[in-house]
Amino acid sequence: MSARVPFNALTPGDDAAAVRAAIDRVIASGWFVLGPEVEGFEAEFAAASGVPHAVGVGTGTDAITLILRALDIGDGDEVITPPLSAAYSALAVIMAGARPVFADIDPDRLTLDPTKIEAAITPRTKAILPVHLYGQAADMRAIEAIAARHHLALVEDAAQAHIATSDGRAVGTIGVAGAISFYPTKNLGALGDGGAVITRDTQLAARIKRLRNGGQTSRYHHEEAGANSRLDEMQAAILRARLPYLGGWTARRRAIAAAYRFGLEGAALTVPREFDAGHVYHLFPVRTPHRDAFMAHLANFGVETLIHYPVPIPRQPALKAFDPADCPVANRVCSEVVSLPMYPALPDAAISAVAAAARTFRPAGQ
Ligand SMILES: *Cc1c(COP(=O)(O)O)cnc(C)c1O
Repeated sequence: MSARVPFNALTPGDDAAAVRAAIDRVIASGWFVLGPEVEGFEAEFAAASGVPHAVGVGTGTDAITLILRALDIGDGDEVITPPLSAAYSALAVIMAGARPVFADIDPDRLTLDPTKIEAAITPRTKAILPVHLYGQAADMRAIEAIAARHHLALVEDAAQAHIATSDGRAVGTIGVAGAISFYPTKNLGALGDGGAVITRDTQLAARIKRLRNGGQTSRYHHEEAGANSRLDEMQAAILRARLPYLGGWTARRRAIAAAYRFGLEGAALTVPREFDAGHVYHLFPVRTPHRDAFMAHLANFGVETLIHYPVPIPRQPALKAFDPADCPVANRVCSEVVSLPMYPALPDAAISAVAAAARTFRPAGQ
């Protein structure tokens, strides 16, 4: 059998010395929460993302929740969001005190379907929360037109879309703000949890800085009931060390995607189209109605695969109380989608091996 191809590789590689130096610098500084590393990272990440402001927070989930709270969206309000995503997209809406309402996805782009949004709007709707899933922006031209027509806030879940663009525009600049995650598997990952809000809006950034730190306006003065969701100095320093690699890593992800598209020609699979050249390929999903057999076939060749995501969010037990709409397109996609290994350190030989193994897959009865 061939060499094992793991699904991901999270141990620092080409960046290891820089990460180690960052860790040592923070230990020596004796300063661990909300300090110069966080401020430095916020400025550097904002510049890299093409937005004026970045605010470091505890997680990507908190980034979404804090954006909604800063927009005064909460109790009694509804937020429209897609059924295919990490469940945290919808859980963040619930954490803000609002109700997630699901509009189905486009069957090819796999992001929020603009033609399904208006039927989900009610007098309580306050925001639309599209997810730039797998690293590709949702159809933002269509979605922003709907948001404008109905006076809804547009909040971008960009947790999988670091430095991605939509029609040439930076994610996080299209709506009022974008939520970023630095969970270790993301395109820019910490060695622990981390997140950021990116935005053009100076006042919104200031409100989120207050909300992340207990709602304090000065020490021990809590102006509003904020959260405790701070990016720590260690993670900020690690992210600063890694940020200069992000452009190269993203280029490598795009090259891997191109190699997969070429190598998978003729395979008994559906390979999702690239709708936007600003795609940053957080994941590389393919689709087959014979998913279990396909995953077993690749496992025989030592290739690890994972499913993003096996259960549509409206079908999660946690969502039952919100009486979510059933989303048939997402239901079908969740039963067919499977992600191939996709990370910058994936060697060329592994890409060829994955594609070759996939090409020999013969669904039962064919
Ligand atoms: C990872 C992720 C989140 C949550 O980010 P955390 O940092 O894990 O809280 C939210 N939405 C999407 C689409 C994600 O991929």
